[in-house]
Order: sequence, then structure tokens, then C-alpha cells
Amino acid sequence: MIPFGKPIIGAEERAAVSTVLAGPTLTHGPTVREFEAAFATFTGAPHAIATANCMASLHLAYMAIGLGPGDEVLVPAQTHVAMAHAVAACGATPVFVDCEGRTGNVDIDALDDHVGERTRAISVVHFLGRPVDMEPVLEIARRDGLMVVEDCAIALGARTAGTHVGLLGDVGCFSFYPVKHITTGEGGMLITRRSDLAERISRQRAFGIDRGVVAERRHSAAYDVVDLGLNYRMGEVQAALGIEQLKRLPDFLARRRDNYRQLARGLSDLPGLRVLESDAEGASHYALTAILDRVPGERRSELIEELKRRGVGTSVYYPKPLPELDYYSRILRSDPGAYPEAARISYRSIAFPVGPHVEKNDVEAMIAAVREALEAVVAHA
Ligand SMILES: *Cc1c(COP(=O)(O)O)cnc(C)c1O
Repeated sequence: MIPFGKPIIGAEERAAVSTVLAGPTLTHGPTVREFEAAFATFTGAPHAIATANCMASLHLAYMAIGLGPGDEVLVPAQTHVAMAHAVAACGATPVFVDCEGRTGNVDIDALDDHVGERTRAISVVHFLGRPVDMEPVLEIARRDGLMVVEDCAIALGARTAGTHVGLLGDVGCFSFYPVKHITTGEGGMLITRRSDLAERISRQRAFGIDRGVVAERRHSAAYDVVDLGLNYRMGEVQAALGIEQLKRLPDFLARRRDNYRQLARGLSDLPGLRVLESDAEGASHYALTAILDRVPGERRSELIEELKRRGVGTSVYYPKPLPELDYYSRILRSDPGAYPEAARISYRSIAFPVGPHVEKNDVEAMIAAVREALEAVVAHA
């Protein structure tokens, strides 16, 4: 069985975790600072702040600008629900924007159409590791004084003209959930060039406690709280994992790229399948998503079953456009059918694994399995 995602945890990770466990410090320690420094070096970020997960990073980004009731944030319709929840958790309203069908990245014209009086920020997701064309997004943001939040949860390692994603807008948010490019079990990161945001976000990550006071305090009772904050810190054990995983990342990225290209070539001449164009200059190849243009949508689950029977694990990124999720359809009452490209990806696509756990001969096996599975489904039709 080739699973969709499988973390690669080796002797180095186990040793690093053991070292932390044998030591005196499980939180507020040097390992998190070392992971932050290594992440800053890898991405070129002036500031890197480790968090509990990507959702926490997104929430902190909005808390830092005081987002609240009455405010709106543009959110891609085709992405993880964390992007909308981070906005809603501040009491603000996500305004959904359709994606472009070719790549799954946000449709820039639609983005501009949705900017209104109450808009305070734009969020984008670098879908499946393909960098969003940020220049027009930044132009809109500059014109209207909006914050730009980049969700890089599935785009670690992706760069635009040498600049790592997350550094083009105001903040970049990352996930270290097990199936992502690298993992710490649960974990996240936030990067930014802005020292004002970095300072506030570091504080709000830890109860809003004044850091200067913490550094100077002589006994534990002496601190002050200068801001509303949450406990969104990362622990030392997670950071130890992250440091070792980051060392493997260049190798992981090369393997993802090679797997993606081999698989894309193998699937390119199969009838009824269209591969989403996730391979671009600087992309980091999270998965290969194929759109079933000819297999009827309702046969997709059958195809997924046929693939599973042949040892191929797949996934769907993401299974519903956000405005069609029960929660958001109830509170926002958006028009069904208003996000046709996001819906096409949700209801008619299958994501195939390209991670470093996938070997070259696995890719060949996957290509053969897809051909057979397609034939089986068409034969039953
Ligand atoms: C996985 C994912 C998240 C959530 O990450 P967590 O670390 O689990 O909070 C957010 N956004 C996108 C695009 C994701 O794929």
C-alpha cells in the first residue's frame, strides 16, 4: 500500500527527542529558539515564530491587527477550513473568492471584485505548493491598505524569484501536521519581515505576557500582561523533531519534484484525466491533483475504491468549497454554485501522493493502477 502521506522519522529524530526528554527543559527552552533560527535561515525570514499549529499562526496574524466584528477578510473558497475559522474566531467575516481552474490558486480578478468598504485583509493559499502570483495581490493590498496573509501550509520550500513564500505578504503561516512537507506531530510557524508584527505576535502567542518583564523577572510571580493573548506556543520536543526534519527538507523537496514530474508524465495521456498545473518555477510539489473531466463526479468514490484495492492511497484537497461547508453555508448563506472552479476541484478531483515515502517504482505502479482503475470504472458505467 502506498499511503497518501507518511512521515519519515529516523534515528536522528529519535535521538533529538530523547536528548530533550533527558534534559531539564520541556518548554520555554533553547530548542524552540534553535528551530526558529534554522527556519529563518532556510526561508530567509527576518523573524520566525514557532506555534502550536498553522491554525494558531493564522489566528495570531489576525489578532495582531486587531481584526474584529464588522471586519471582512478575503479567503480562498478552495482551501483548508482553518483559513476561514481564523477569521471567524476573531468575530470577523470571511468573504470567499473562487480559484482559477488551471492551478487552484486564487482568481485575481475575482479577488479584486470582492474588496469592499469593510475589507481589512487578503489571505491566499499557495495551492499544492504552486506559488500564487503575488504581484497583483500586493497591488490591490497597497491600493486599499490591506494586510496580506499567506497560508504556506502546503508550500514549504516554494519560492518566487528566489523569495520564499510567506515573505511577499505581511505574514506567512506554516503547518507541521504529519502529512505536510515536514512534521513535528502538531506544530506550526509564522514568518514575517515586519518587526512590529513579530513583537506583538510573539507576545500574543504566550498569554500577552510582556517579554521584557519575563526576561528581567527575578521570581515567577513577577510579570505583567500587556495584551490579549492565547497559549499557542510550541514545546521543546516538537522543536527537536522540527530541527531534524528541516535538515532533510532539501532532499524531501527534490524527491517530491521528481515524483511529481514522473507521475504527471505517466498520467498525461490517460483519457478523462486532467492534471492540475501545480508544477511551476519555484513550486514545492505537495501532491498531484487530477481532475476527472470525463468520469462523472458521482463515480469518483468508486475510482478511489478501485485505486485503494490496487494499493494506492489518495486524498482530496479539499473536499468541499469552504462556503458549502455546513457551518459557513448556515451563517453566510452564500449562493450555491457561486464558486464553480473551487467546486470542480472539490467534487471532481483526486490527489495522489508524491512525498518522499514514494519510491520511483511506486510511481510506475501508481500510473498502472490509475489506468486499470479508470478502465474498471468506465466498464461498470
Ligand atoms: C493543513 C492545513 C492547515 C492546518 O494546519 P494545522 O497545522 O493542522 O493547523 C491550514 N491551511 C492549509 C492550507 C492546510 O493544508
